[in-house]
Amino acid sequence: MNNTALIGNPNTGKTSLFNALTSSYQYVGNWSGVTVEKKVGQLRNKAGSITDLPGVYSLNPVSRDEGVVATFLVGQEPSAIVNIVDASQLERNLYLTLQMLEYGKPLLIGLNMMDVAESRGVHIQIEVLSRMLGVPVIPLVARTGKGCHELLEVMTHNSSQTAAPDWILDYGETIEQAILDISRELAKFVPNPSLSTRWAALQLLENNQAVRHALKLDDDCSRRLDTLLEGTERSLAATHPSMTLTHYLRSVRMARIQEILKSAVITQPKAHPTLTDRIDQMAMHPFWGVPLFLTFMYVTFKLTFDWLGNPLSDMLDTFISGPLSTFISGALEALNVSGFTAALILDGIVAGVGGVLVFIPQIFILFLIISFIEDTGYMARITVMLDRLMEMVGLNGKSLIPFIIGFGCNVPAIMASRGIEQEKERTLTMLLVPLMSCSARLPVYALFAGVFFARSQALVVFSLYFLGILLTLLLAKLFSRTIFKNQKSFYFMELPPYRLPQGRTLFRSTWEKGKGFLRKAGTFILAGSVLIWMMSYLGPGGVAESMDDSFLAYVGGLIAPLLQPVGFGTWQAGAALMTGFMAKEVVVSTMNIIYHAPDINGLQVQISSAFTPLQAYSFMSFILLYTPCLATVGVLRKETSSWKWTAFSVAYAVLLAYLVSIVIYQGGKLIF
Ligand code: GDP
Ligand code: MG
Repeated sequence: MNNTALIGNPNTGKTSLFNALTSSYQYVGNWSGVTVEKKVGQLRNKAGSITDLPGVYSLNPVSRDEGVVATFLVGQEPSAIVNIVDASQLERNLYLTLQMLEYGKPLLIGLNMMDVAESRGVHIQIEVLSRMLGVPVIPLVARTGKGCHELLEVMTHNSSQTAAPDWILDYGETIEQAILDISRELAKFVPNPSLSTRWAALQLLENNQAVRHALKLDDDCSRRLDTLLEGTERSLAATHPSMTLTHYLRSVRMARIQEILKSAVITQPKAHPTLTDRIDQMAMHPFWGVPLFLTFMYVTFKLTFDWLGNPLSDMLDTFISGPLSTFISGALEALNVSGFTAALILDGIVAGVGGVLVFIPQIFILFLIISFIEDTGYMARITVMLDRLMEMVGLNGKSLIPFIIGFGCNVPAIMASRGIEQEKERTLTMLLVPLMSCSARLPVYALFAGVFFARSQALVVFSLYFLGILLTLLLAKLFSRTIFKNQKSFYFMELPPYRLPQGRTLFRSTWEKGKGFLRKAGTFILAGSVLIWMMSYLGPGGVAESMDDSFLAYVGGLIAPLLQPVGFGTWQAGAALMTGFMAKEVVVSTMNIIYHAPDINGLQVQISSAFTPLQAYSFMSFILLYTPCLATVGVLRKETSSWKWTAFSVAYAVLLAYLVSIVIYQGGKLIF
């Protein structure tokens, strides 16, 4: 076996298994729709490669990411398949299994979530199941790695045992005849002779457009195929008048599944409600559910700032501006570097990059909490509770996944929108994701709210996140009324049981989210800091006398007049906003370089004399709303494949930021 594909329903533990088998790390989330692209990894024992695919309930695609699987099966043709089956949801999972058996390649069943099944009183007789399906079945708990070793063994050594069975589901005379006819037609189109024409024919009978597309039939054959399909539909109507072809095929498969379940599964119903049920009575309460969630958010921000983040951040700042800076300047002196280089390093790089790094604690604490909410299964519940709200504004619950990922970083969030079926909803979601306040904006809030709203920092930051969400809803309503006229789609999120996250996974996924921030600090923010420092050091006539004569002041001054109405018409603010187009952390770097402060306290003093609290709030709102970073623009272009939408996104964001900040500043002036 050298190229195995992992296939299964959403949220069955495919990615967990993939990680266990390849010792790599891919995003594991306790909800469906997390994996939207296929991922290839080398097996731990170097015996071949394995591909993690998005979860699907059936091979007939409903959304773009589901098409990935069907297309993969026709085009790529894996040499073997591992079908991950959720033991606690056997009935629904086996539907895909039957289709995979028809596919005819060596198949192995990884019966995952054995712990969940057992706790629900579902007892599966492995040998019986294996006999009835004709393929090996290996019980697993992918999360802890139990059974993975056995699976790997069977995958690599017992390839004879995994050979495809002569497993055939008889669909009755009419369909069997149609399968023969279609197979004959297909024979010359099948891209690889080993692809089962029976399987392909069945998929075509089910009207699987992804398979049809991937087979690249010519016009002639397409026409003959349509005639055959119509004919079959008609003959079927003679014997089963109330059924379409798709329904009929489904009913045959369902009947077989019932047969299997009857012999292989023994269920001892549990009388008392499960722990998940009891928690959900509270967490998803029709009235208390949402307030509880908001309280949870508030506590999250309290932890991120007041209780834990700020004290840690202060310690880090003391270290960077104290011992570390002293050490670096000492080293520079000892090396006898020129005054210019020393200034570049100390006032540019240390100030710019260090000024951003001090916010590491806040960012990692927030990510840790988000990972925790995801992994326990609470996040999935939040999306279900908010689904109604989303529908009211023309989005659906599926958009919530990109939105939630967007609180970490907008770039993967835009990519996660691929899970949305409707093209228009998908575009709308991608346009709105940048309004989710990503972690890069956190340092700006931490800095400004720390100066002006020290006592209610969590509340102020919470209000900014909330502002982003509120505007998302309003704009969704507006855009879906105007640009994207009504298109209904349906949302189905299956609720996973609550699970206590494992420490290792939790830290791993926090790290995966946060490492991007560190990487950015070493690249983008570093380069930005150097550039900004140079611009602040040089002016039209060589070295600038004072920073007010520098290029930076000149560039910032260009847009300063425009910023008068929003409350911060200084070249400093203008320059920070312009450099903030690169990445939002750079705003903080710019402030550090411009105000040239010895440490965060010094910077705070300077900022507090440059802004009023109202101006600071207006500034933070501006930061929240305008285009997050160059990377977002790049990924938008890639995912929408359209410059038009990309330009629209940037334009509306800048305009929105401007208008909202005007309202905040001018409105605030009237009130205060
Ligand atoms: P995928 O959507 O199929 O890729 O599934 P994931 O690998 O992302 O896992 C979905 C969720 O199920 C995660 O929260 C995992 O930690 C959890 N999980 C995976 N395998 C098991 C298992 O065997 N038992 C239990 N209790 N949870 C599991
Ligand atoms: Mg996955």
